[in-house]
Amino acid sequence: MENFEFVSPTHFVFGRGAEEQVGEKLAERGARKALIHYGGQSAVKSGLIDRVKAALDEAGIEHVELGGVRPNPEIGLAREGIALCKEHGVDWVLAVGGGSVIDSAKAIAVGAHYDGDVWDFFETKRLTDDVLPIAVVLTIPAAGSEASKNTVVSNDELQLKTGYANNAQRPKLAFMNPELTFTLPEYQTAAGLTDMFCHLLERFFDDVGAVPVTDNLCLALMKTVRAEVPRVMVEPDNYDARANVMWAGMLCHQGLAGVGRHEDWATHGLEHELSALNPAITHGAGLAVMFPAWMEYVYAENPARFAFYGREVFGLAPTGDLEADALSAIDETRGFFASLGMPVTLDELDVREEDIEKLIPTLKENKGEPFGSFKKLTMDDAREIYKIALA
Ligand code: NAP
Ligand code: FE
Repeated sequence: MENFEFVSPTHFVFGRGAEEQVGEKLAERGARKALIHYGGQSAVKSGLIDRVKAALDEAGIEHVELGGVRPNPEIGLAREGIALCKEHGVDWVLAVGGGSVIDSAKAIAVGAHYDGDVWDFFETKRLTDDVLPIAVVLTIPAAGSEASKNTVVSNDELQLKTGYANNAQRPKLAFMNPELTFTLPEYQTAAGLTDMFCHLLERFFDDVGAVPVTDNLCLALMKTVRAEVPRVMVEPDNYDARANVMWAGMLCHQGLAGVGRHEDWATHGLEHELSALNPAITHGAGLAVMFPAWMEYVYAENPARFAFYGREVFGLAPTGDLEADALSAIDETRGFFASLGMPVTLDELDVREEDIEKLIPTLKENKGEPFGSFKKLTMDDAREIYKIALA
């Protein structure tokens, strides 16, 4: 097991009606003025934003608001949020939504006390502790941003989608009511399940090898996500299924499932270039295409690891041929994503062979070279993986 540091400051309020405690819990922590940050329309339409405002009013917490976060959030709106925080003396950022809203809220929280442009942090990866505290009302289990140390934001002008990691931007409070996810479109539920499963794959496959305590946590979460698929996809208002998925989504990415390992993260890098190229590409859908392609390209580094994964997660019987077992595990992974209605080729995402060269320079800028851990990849390797994913 590798040495590690692990920080998890998030206070979770989980269950029916969790969001009703927003005012009270923020007031206990001394909040005076919150910026309510939300997405395109779902949280307004459902009445959630009105309920959150009422809870803040009741607790005597003033608020300003900024909606309109798009999926694959853009730095421009975060800059507007920062200006609002400065103008109004905001002391808490309250994200109401999914990964996109939370990530935008993190950028706002990081930039609110900074005199320069917040993009500096994405460019330099410089740490700061001067970050506004963040609270989250989660509406879609997927990204795990409600407890993670990461934010991923696009910069359309630079055609980049870039991550920034800092423990100081982990949310202090996360309100998680599974009932809020009943209204999710099937595609978003499926993309969320794919993303959380991929957060485990990124951690499970690296160059460290077995770390049983971490591996077993990872495998249990993979099995849970798989097992909930039939319930959650067929019965969108099944509370227990939604609750398991919501809590699993957090556990998949808050960090515990990767301690003692190096983790890989090559495939998230490959995917972020797709959603930077075309913000209409849903993160989970891009991952569904890229993960099996990455697996096919790298499995020969350690087929036994893939065979182990296939046995544990998909119940595959060993054939005595590790390579065959590894390939079966990859087939099962692709089949699992396909069963969720996710795309399996870049073609389905309207990404063509001629687009690959557009992805490489920004991938190199974001990830450096080599990147990944299970297999150290060059930009030529990346080209090959994109080619495998084409059709
Ligand atoms: P999202 O982009 O936040 O939301 C996806 C869509 O779902 C939006 O159109 C949203 O509509 C809708 N939606 C959300 N909640 C809903 C509800 N309860 N009912 C109906 N519709 C709802 O999804 P996400 O997968 O959570 O976030 C994706 C982003 O997170 C990507 O940019 C990805 O790169 C990033 N990410 C971040 C991390 C991290 O650690 N920070 C990790 C992985 C991925 P409205 O806009 O109308 O609300
Ligand atoms: Fe992700």
